Order: sequence, then structure tokens, then C-alpha cells
Amino acid sequence: MAKAKPKPSSDDVYELLRWKILDHEIPPATKLNILQIAQQLNVSQTPIREALRQLQGDNLVIATANKGYSTTADLDATGVKDLFEFRLLVEPWAARASASNRLGNPAKELIAELSQFKSTTKYKKRQMIEHDQRFHRAIMLATGNEVLIQAYAQSHCHLHLFRMMENEWDWKKSIEEHAKIAQAILKEDPAKAEEEMRNHLQVSYQGFIKSVQPLSVFTQKLH
Ligand SMILES: [Zn+2]
Repeated sequence: MAKAKPKPSSDDVYELLRWKILDHEIPPATKLNILQIAQQLNVSQTPIREALRQLQGDNLVIATANKGYSTTADLDATGVKDLFEFRLLVEPWAARASASNRLGNPAKELIAELSQFKSTTKYKKRQMIEHDQRFHRAIMLATGNEVLIQAYAQSHCHLHLFRMMENEWDWKKSIEEHAKIAQAILKEDPAKAEEEMRNHLQVSYQGFIKSVQPLSVFTQKLH
């Protein structure tokens, strides 16, 4: 007799739903039918509800009074601008701080991260976002500033940007920019590390803002 498949845990359900939302398999701003999801995944409603609470923490799902759960909308032009203004405030500083701290210098980790990135897999987009998340987080962690680390984590910038990412995303360019940042940090050159991070974020901002809305007011370089 064939063994029954083990039922997915709430962590599995969370992971599954998270990718469905990130990949737009469940579109933005869509009502979620808990009963239907439970039937599709062949689990009870409890792990679904737990997973939805976790997704709420990621800002990928919102609970509305009497209406249950919905996926959040993709970022609009203002949302993208706000997110990059925040990143431009903290990340160039973090790159500078980590480049001048010998003990906490994350260069080795960053270089290892870059060499591990696999561009050959069919899940290139996922690999890229996971690499990007680890790369930027390692620089944040190297600052040792808990307030900053937490604020950055709570922006969930990678989840939200991933949702908007086009398939023809120029990942090679991002990898090159990361390599420049890692080299500047390795050489303990704070000014260069800051400059390369700022440049990387400006390039990234231009890419995302174009994909949301060609509003001239927002397509200018951020300060
Ligand atoms: Zn990056």
C-alpha cells in the first residue's frame, strides 16, 4: 500500500503561499479563500491561518475586518520612492561603516555569497533575490547597529521588490555592482564602498520606478 504523503506543516504552508504570492501565482490585492486553499493543499484551516498570520508580518497579506484576508497590492510609484529613499539613507552608510571595521568586515562572506550565486538554475529569479537579500543583510549585520538592522528587516524590501521584478531583469549588472561593493569593503575603502552602494541603489531605483509608472517627478535621481 502506498504511504500517505505527510501533511505539510504550517511552515511548509507559509513557504508555499509566500512563493505563490511572490511569483504572482496569487495576484496582488486578491481576496484569499481559506477553505479553498485548505482543500487545494489538503490540510486543515489551522496551518493556513497560522501561515497567513506570518505573511501578515511580511506585509504580503492584510486582514480586513469582516472580509478575511487579502494579498497586499504591489508597491506604487510612491511606495517605490519611499522604499529607496529609506535604503539610500541607511545602506551607503552601512557599506561605509562595514568597510572601516576590520573585525566585523564582511568582505569574505560577501565574496563567498557572490561565488555561490547560481545563474544556471531555472529558478534564477529566486536565486537572485535570495542572494541579494543575503548580500545586503550581511552588510547591515556588519554595522552591529540593532536599530538599523531591525528597521531594515521590517521594510521587507526584497519581498516587495521581488514581486515587481520583471523576468528579463538584468541580474548580471546587479552581480557586477555587488562585486564592486564587496571589493571596496575588502580593501577597507569606506568612501568607495559608500559610493558603490549608492550607485547600485540608484540604478536599481531607476529600474523599478520605470516599471511602475513613467512619472517624470519620480524618475529623477533620488537624493
Ligand atoms: Zn543588491
